[in-house]
Amino acid sequence: DLSSATELSGLTGEYSAHNYHPLPVVVASAEGSWVTAVGGQRYLDMLAGYSALNFGHRHPRLIAAATRQLGRATLVSRAFDHDQFGPFCAELAGLCGMEMVLPMNTGAEAVETAIKVARKWGYTTHGVPHDEAVIVVFDGNFHGRTTTIVSFSSDPDAKDDFGPYTPGFVSVPYGDLAALTAAFDAHRDRIVAVLVEPIQGEAGVVVPPPGFLAGVRSLCSGARALMIADEIQSGLGRVGTTFACEAEGVVPDAYLLGKALGGGIIPVSAMVSSRAVLGVLKPGQHGSTFGGNPLACAVAREVIAMLRTGEYQERSARLGTRMHEALGGLPPSVVSSVTGRGLWAGVTFAALDGRAVCERLAALGVLAKETHGSTIRLAPPLVIEEDDLSWGLARFTDAVLSA
Ligand code: PLP
Repeated sequence: DLSSATELSGLTGEYSAHNYHPLPVVVASAEGSWVTAVGGQRYLDMLAGYSALNFGHRHPRLIAAATRQLGRATLVSRAFDHDQFGPFCAELAGLCGMEMVLPMNTGAEAVETAIKVARKWGYTTHGVPHDEAVIVVFDGNFHGRTTTIVSFSSDPDAKDDFGPYTPGFVSVPYGDLAALTAAFDAHRDRIVAVLVEPIQGEAGVVVPPPGFLAGVRSLCSGARALMIADEIQSGLGRVGTTFACEAEGVVPDAYLLGKALGGGIIPVSAMVSSRAVLGVLKPGQHGSTFGGNPLACAVAREVIAMLRTGEYQERSARLGTRMHEALGGLPPSVVSSVTGRGLWAGVTFAALDGRAVCERLAALGVLAKETHGSTIRLAPPLVIEEDDLSWGLARFTDAVLSA
């Protein structure tokens, strides 16, 4: 069996583009917080598909919803309405306390949607001179991989050699309200939006200083710019609340959602906002063949129903406290910082290499992934059993201290 895992990895290495550097694990099946590799080895999944698997692998409620819908209708395109679409939009708007939903598939598409909508909103309702809109973003951001989105990345791997870059973005240091204020002073009449991750995920689960999100909110309100919260990774229960913005009682003008919205089954993303904002789009101005398809809507409706119980947010808060206590107890000579909230942590090592630790962890039966050189992200499924979490954290301690 080991040879067949080796053969499979060989095919991947030979025929797939090398835009990822996967750990040497070939997954064959998965359930809850556990995956089983070709060859039978079991691993505790403490990455959870970069938070796309907040409800674990193949959650029975989500599989049932998908299976029911597979027997009815899977795709109609937006040329017609279907019986899952209106309810999905109404239920997602309700979960977000917003008025309107524009569904897409991937996170990057939701971000692209927000960029287009913010620009059109600026030009058509806000008197911004045509083709001069500015969107403020933050250093260290990760919003996806399209040519426009990498244009405002500060990560050379994400950006270099992919120009020419899309203009219209200004980047300021994350967490720095003085720098954001200066950007507003410099571009006031042209700023249509601030695009912000309430916690920066790919940067290493970076939590901004207290007051930052509230400050972004008030600067945006003062300048009639949209505060667009990219909660694609931070939202839908990950941090112990439905949205990470809740930590400061902040309500943005738009949420961008993805990942967990599709229940780990199908890509579902969305921009969720007000009628005043999403209402700027007229037929033909934006869309997606697969966005809002019946299968996606049926699965996402079940995700929304699960989140409405509050059970997953509560688990994330409770188990997250335990996880952060355990990680906080590691020696500072080895672990220089632990950041994050709920079942989401960025662990930065004083000297260890993140990749090497992940390889040791995998050998001990735990899957995690470095974000950058010396930082590992831990984001187990919110359904993880308490005993499994303790077991995984003990393996993490072994992997870190045995190095
Ligand atoms: N926005 C944030 C905050 C993300 O973390 C990600 C993915 O990691 C994206 C957007 C892009 O999502 P996708 O990979 O589905 O395009």
